[in-house]
Amino acid sequence: MFFPSSVILCEVGLRDGLQNEKTILSVSDKLMFLEGLIEAGFPVIEVGSFMHPKRVPQMADTDALFKAIGDTGKTELRALIPNLRGVQRAADCGCKKVKLNVSASRQHNLKNLNMTPEQSVAGFADCAAFAKEAGIEISGSISMPFASPWEGVTPVADVDAIIEAYLALDIREISLSDASGMATPKQVFELCSHVREKFPTAVFWLHFHNTRGMAMANICAAMDAGMIRFDTSFGGLGGCPFVPGAAGNISSEDVVHMFDESGIQTGVDLQKVMALSRKLPDLLGHELESYVLRAGRSCDLIIE
Ligand code: ZN
Repeated sequence: MFFPSSVILCEVGLRDGLQNEKTILSVSDKLMFLEGLIEAGFPVIEVGSFMHPKRVPQMADTDALFKAIGDTGKTELRALIPNLRGVQRAADCGCKKVKLNVSASRQHNLKNLNMTPEQSVAGFADCAAFAKEAGIEISGSISMPFASPWEGVTPVADVDAIIEAYLALDIREISLSDASGMATPKQVFELCSHVREKFPTAVFWLHFHNTRGMAMANICAAMDAGMIRFDTSFGGLGGCPFVPGAAGNISSEDVVHMFDESGIQTGVDLQKVMALSRKLPDLLGHELESYVLRAGRSCDLIIE
């Protein structure tokens, strides 16, 4: 198995996590977490999204959060956007990195939008052009490239077509998002190996939900295929609006702990992340899905 000397983590709890919570945190609480996560050393943080505030009220204050945090130096802060209006909002509040998303499910896209997923991506041309003009970096995400509740296993050719559509817009950074938590390690290894070989100019991120307990194994399988960029969520926050009972993203604590104990650099201070996550249950009113928060770090065990 391939073990890199370092990996790059993006903390997505403030977006993918909080957008699924019933409780809407105040801007000052979000800012406290954002400052803490920057301080903990995450190189990339997904701060929020510029969706319509009526559709995703939990993210309505993303603009305010970007304005409040200002320039963070080396930490890259990104936001999810649905359309051109999203890039305009990013430009207005000083957000320098945005991410588009499309579902890899052909049937779902045809039924809802009357377009194939790659036609949806081609429709993002105005976003790409505006972002370039405004000096905003733009990336793309593909949700359910492994499997979806609508079609089961996603055909590899469908994923290829979407990646090609992103590359045609000069969007090279692409996230493969297992939002439904259906991916298996074997499939992850095979798809990651395939896309790395077929699209050598693309930079891939992997985003795993731990819905069926396979996220950690999927990270290892992706790593074995040479992938080094992973999304994680503090406290294991998150869910999936399409999948009832879906668990959250793989927890940042569990992932950082695995890499720490394996001698693989993340640049993230695990104890600082754990201290932040311990504040969540009181604010959100429920317990968290994080093994390391419950059991503590392996390196702290002393058996006499
Ligand atoms: Zn997600």
